[in-house]
Amino acid sequence: MDLSALEKEILEADLSTEEGRTAFQKRFLQKGGVLESLLAELRTLPPEARKARGQALNALREKARQRWEAAKQAYSTPLSTTPKPQDPTFPALRIQPGGRHPLSLIEGRIIRFFQRLGYTLATGPEIEDDWHNFSALNFEPDHPARDMQDTFFLDPAAGLLLRTHTSTVQVRVMERQKPPIRILAPGRVYRNETVSARAHVYFHQIEGLYVDEGVQTSDLKATLTSFVENFFGPGTPMRWRASYFPFTEMSAEVDIACLICHGAGCAVCKHTGWVEVLGCGMVDPAVFEACGIDPHRYTGFAFGLGVERLAQLLYTIPDLRLFGQNDLRFLQSFQGYGYAL
Ligand SMILES: [Zn+2]
Repeated sequence: MDLSALEKEILEADLSTEEGRTAFQKRFLQKGGVLESLLAELRTLPPEARKARGQALNALREKARQRWEAAKQAYSTPLSTTPKPQDPTFPALRIQPGGRHPLSLIEGRIIRFFQRLGYTLATGPEIEDDWHNFSALNFEPDHPARDMQDTFFLDPAAGLLLRTHTSTVQVRVMERQKPPIRILAPGRVYRNETVSARAHVYFHQIEGLYVDEGVQTSDLKATLTSFVENFFGPGTPMRWRASYFPFTEMSAEVDIACLICHGAGCAVCKHTGWVEVLGCGMVDPAVFEACGIDPHRYTGFAFGLGVERLAQLLYTIPDLRLFGQNDLRFLQSFQGYGYAL
């Protein structure tokens, strides 16, 4: 067989298509191909002709292999690694910035305000015992909050439960630290409630406690009035209502004029024109005694803020469940909100 014709074929074969390359591979590189059968025929040649013919065939096989490798490189490169010319008129990719959860935004604002007044952060466990959640806070043995209807008991025999308020942290701090005490305790609390738009099995509170010699009701009023004006705006109409908590004596709740209807009455304020924003009071001397603090020497006040409640009021969020559902459409509506807003 004329090897020069074969060489021409090897050098000129069209390898730009998949079919061309497959055919080339079959004919020149695989068993049963033309080069393989010519090499096999060498044995039939006289020894003097065998060497030159063998070298020529091997040279051809090497050329075929090189063309095949080059074609594979040139045509089989994956598309993704092929650099494409840039199109400067193409719209830019939209960058999705992250955002803080609305509850973190509110919590951050509250913490920053009280930190400026010298309050420091304190934390406590979410699994509590009866002493820290109830007894030390002056809850009577038959108080309804101790009922299974209201509280998640983990181990009734051991008295373990999920804390129902962050007031537990007050007790823990007062047990190990003597006045002056000025703390802020943010955290998650649990109630045995049916989940609805207005109630949930968990929510977030921020507890504040200030204990020192000579702390008076006027300090409480000044501190919380200043907070409400900072949070909702200067001149926000507010009112103080007498209330009851087991762990404070003189207990009060603070309402502000409804942000939706500005006092005219709407569904959010149940047509009263007012919405409750916090509970507070002067620490009951019985609580000081339970925590080993001399009630004759020290006085103090405590307050509790509901983070979800403040977020609902400030951002007009109708359903409490939205905070825990991780629905991106809800969370993305707070994108770009910083702590300053
Ligand atoms: Zn209203």
